[in-house]
Amino acid sequence: MAPQGSAFQPAFLGFECSVCGATCDATAPRSTCPACARPLVARFDLARIAREVPREALGRFGADLWRYRAVLPFAPAFPVARLGEGGTPLLPLPRLAEELGVRELWLKEEAGNPTGSFKARGLALAVSGALAWGRTALALPSAGNAGSAAAAYAAAFGLRCRITVPQDTPEAFVLEQRACGAEVTLVPGTLSDAGRALAALAPPDAWWNVATFREPFRLEGKKTLGYEIVEQSGWRPPDVIVYPTGGGTGLVGMWKAFEEMRALGWMEGEAPRLVAVQPAGCAPVVRAVAAGADGIAPWEDARTLASGLRVPAPFAERLILRAVRETGGTAVAVSEEEMLDGMNDLAAAEGCFACPEGGATLAALRQLRASGEVSAAARVVLFDTGTGLKYLEAWRLAAARREAAHA
Ligand SMILES: *Cc1c(COP(=O)(O)O)cnc(C)c1O
Repeated sequence: MAPQGSAFQPAFLGFECSVCGATCDATAPRSTCPACARPLVARFDLARIAREVPREALGRFGADLWRYRAVLPFAPAFPVARLGEGGTPLLPLPRLAEELGVRELWLKEEAGNPTGSFKARGLALAVSGALAWGRTALALPSAGNAGSAAAAYAAAFGLRCRITVPQDTPEAFVLEQRACGAEVTLVPGTLSDAGRALAALAPPDAWWNVATFREPFRLEGKKTLGYEIVEQSGWRPPDVIVYPTGGGTGLVGMWKAFEEMRALGWMEGEAPRLVAVQPAGCAPVVRAVAAGADGIAPWEDARTLASGLRVPAPFAERLILRAVRETGGTAVAVSEEEMLDGMNDLAAAEGCFACPEGGATLAALRQLRASGEVSAAARVVLFDTGTGLKYLEAWRLAAARREAAHA
């Protein structure tokens, strides 16, 4: 085990279970909690990092997400999986800010990541973890973007990759994954069905499962979203972040980033309120938040064009609910029509050809302004989590709505 230790940096302490609190070290490959099989979370000696790394020193590792290497698990000299992930712009949306009547409105534009979505952040870390632990084969169920990111990093860093996707996944994803050498199986049903099919196709001793929250590194990649937004806001975070929530890695990752940044003394002011947006056809988080529930009951008959949000039973249910509640946030459901209008409006007003999930965040902000839950004084960040170019079916429907409105 000894040589593997050198893959990790000294301030990385190992993992803690998000439910039972059990801890384990990183000397052996980990997936979920060895005691209760719930999600593991990486822990750091933040006091040590605060002493050794001033926030002004971050730039020495580059402008991508490895800028935040001081708060990521890997040792400075470890050759991580790097394809240009992260370091995406926070773009002002002045026309929409004026129209919606908010003080500031920004878009975290994630389309520029490798394979065109923010899933690259998590998979860059997971594939680095596979390299650190000597795992040579990855497997995951995917609604599209996670599979494409996994396939690309696996191709570039010499790992095998096996993916199950719902049968109606947009073809662009399947073409991309197969081009990168992944073995892709199409499965009838939703992401949950793809997850069940994977169990037989990829036994865990041979295939390391990198599904959402089934291993602890993807969360570390997603937390860099929080670090970037705070740094890009001059270390004073915005008041509200509106996030399209499927499995919840980004939401939970940003919450983790804000907690860490507070402990590091890197963040001025309060953590932003985190708003989880889901499509009305698959809104298990919205239902649980509205009911004040402790867990998230599976959504039956999940349907939406936003394939990244068709997650009927998010595994990290408690972490997602805590991220929303402890930041004073909320959860909002949007209809498919509102989402398509959001896509059209982002393109027409700001030149952003968003994915449906991105359109959903604008639709949610419209609701929150109408209800007064977001005030005119607020500084708000929306998310475009991936390029719209892989969602031509959704864009055909968006175009039809535009034409009908002008007819
Ligand atoms: C996966 C995905 C989401 C949801 O992300 P989570 O962090 O898992 O909640 C949102 N948008 C797109 C485009 C996605 O691919």
